[in-house]
Amino acid sequence: MIETKTCEGCGAQYERPPNARNWNWGQRRFCSRGCGARVAAMDPAHRKKCGDGLRARLASDPEAKARHTAAAKANIAKGRPLSDRKKSGATRSRNTLGWLPDAETRKLYIRLREQYGAAKAKEMVKESMAVAARREVRRNQQEMDRRHRRELEQRY
Ligand SMILES: [Zn+2]
Repeated sequence: MIETKTCEGCGAQYERPPNARNWNWGQRRFCSRGCGARVAAMDPAHRKKCGDGLRARLASDPEAKARHTAAAKANIAKGRPLSDRKKSGATRSRNTLGWLPDAETRKLYIRLREQYGAAKAKEMVKESMAVAARREVRRNQQEMDRRHRRELEQRY
């Protein structure tokens, strides 16, 4: 039986990856890295720790501070508001997940991607989609054959 856990971030159920060591699986609290990062980013203690670390580094290293300031100014000059970043996130996920025909396949792909990586997951999902399509074609053909036979029987 596959072990599952409930994500502390989004509440989703996630499965134990087949290659997960006991230690890692025991430590794990989130369905994905993204979920863990989101939860950490909302935690005031975590934010303070990161802020303190950054401030300490910038105070001790004038070169790093100059680089940091330049990068921050460049970002402000680009003037990309949060709504813009939200939009680009949506575009990105449309571009990476847009080929998936429905929510169910999408969910399957995301789960497989977590376990096997994107390339392998895409291959697996495409294969299962092709199998389903072939099955659909065969079903249609059988249905047409049946109808044809019924017509012939009725004729004679
Ligand atoms: Zn989650």
